[in-house]
Amino acid sequence: MFDRKTCCVVVVGAQWGDEGKGKLVDVLAERADYVVRYQGGANAGHTVVTGDEQFILQQTPSGILHPKAICLIGNGVVLDPETLFKELDHLASRGIVTAGRIFVSDRAHLVLPYHKQLDVASEKSQKIGTTGRGIGPAYEDKYGRRGIRVGDLRNPETLRQLLAERVERANRLLQMMGVAERASLEEHVALVEGLAPRLLPIAADTGRLVHRALQDGKRVLLEGAQGALLDVDHGTYPFVTSSNTTAGGASVGAGIGPTAIDGVLGVVKAYTTRVGNGPLPTEAAGEPGEELRKLGGEFGAVTGRPRRCGWFDANVVRYSVRVNGLTGLAVTKLDVLDTLAEIPVSTGYRVDGELSEELPSEVHQLERVDPIYEILPGWRKPLGNARRMADLPPEARAYLDRLQDLSGAPIRYVSVGTRRDQIIEV
Ligand code: GDP
Repeated sequence: MFDRKTCCVVVVGAQWGDEGKGKLVDVLAERADYVVRYQGGANAGHTVVTGDEQFILQQTPSGILHPKAICLIGNGVVLDPETLFKELDHLASRGIVTAGRIFVSDRAHLVLPYHKQLDVASEKSQKIGTTGRGIGPAYEDKYGRRGIRVGDLRNPETLRQLLAERVERANRLLQMMGVAERASLEEHVALVEGLAPRLLPIAADTGRLVHRALQDGKRVLLEGAQGALLDVDHGTYPFVTSSNTTAGGASVGAGIGPTAIDGVLGVVKAYTTRVGNGPLPTEAAGEPGEELRKLGGEFGAVTGRPRRCGWFDANVVRYSVRVNGLTGLAVTKLDVLDTLAEIPVSTGYRVDGELSEELPSEVHQLERVDPIYEILPGWRKPLGNARRMADLPPEARAYLDRLQDLSGAPIRYVSVGTRRDQIIEV
């Protein structure tokens, strides 16, 4: 993706998340000077397999595994500082040096224990199937203009007052929700006082750091979390996350102008999965769905929740190409389909008898669509050792060609296994 003219690249999930962005970011980070997270919180759970080692990163940008990359957590992220430091300590215990390589926006909002208490108690969160890590409530506070930001830790006198008001409000809400648990002001004060000496030295105007890096000709990778269909505006509302996961969110959440971005890579699985509730038109019911789940190891990286599985949905990816302005696609997990004799691909929907190549905006419409399938022949050979397109069997190449034609964006990468080296650059 990076070349002389392409210095600032966004990587987004182009379906419902879990597409393997962590792996792509890890591969691309080798050529990046900066890796920036710009939205979401600590539930992302990106899995990165380096050699024989596996890392699951929730809050830290995946670029941390490359010793030279500087990692930034942008203003658009809601930061769970306890998770961040736990992760940094864990990385240190595995020999990864992070000191001097990670900075956090002083404009980023904090996820505090009362957010998690509210999240767990909320019936709405349970219906949508959130991970209960306080991310939704933290974004609600941000937009309700009652959030607490990293920079607020610089003013201990006002911070106590802020916390007192927030904890009191949280307790009123908890009471209304009918749960007995209450948030403790003293515990919150002690927590942030304990965190401040570690957090403030890495707090910075990260947008300025990115801006300067680009001026100096450095390469910047903006790492998205979740997927386009979970975007609060463009996703399958209300079964969405609380932030803008699409590429536009990268500009706002990293603190740079949209004109600074040179390319957008959309990561798509060779099939489709979704965690939690909400419509999934190409969901494979019964045995085929079970088989895909088993073959793909489709269980949440952090929660262990089984993911719902189905076939590639061209309407979804076409839509994603449009709303993200994708300049390229990375198709992951192609190897998961190795053993299948036939692979269905949805080319469009039938909606009330009419052919549609668009994604309806309302979930009840999306729940009623009838996907139209084309059955493509499988290759029935292991792809894990392919490193060039020419190494792929003709059926696998034909499968990719069809996905590319249907999606309307060029395939730039194909991933054929979990390891760093199992990638084809097209
Ligand atoms: P992310 O949040 O988008 O990074 O995705 P997750 O980490 O939740 O899920 C992706 C999973 O697929 C991880 O376990 C990866 O190691 C794995 N993975 C990524 N690319 C490939 C691939 O090409 N083939 C296989 N078999 N697994 C992959």
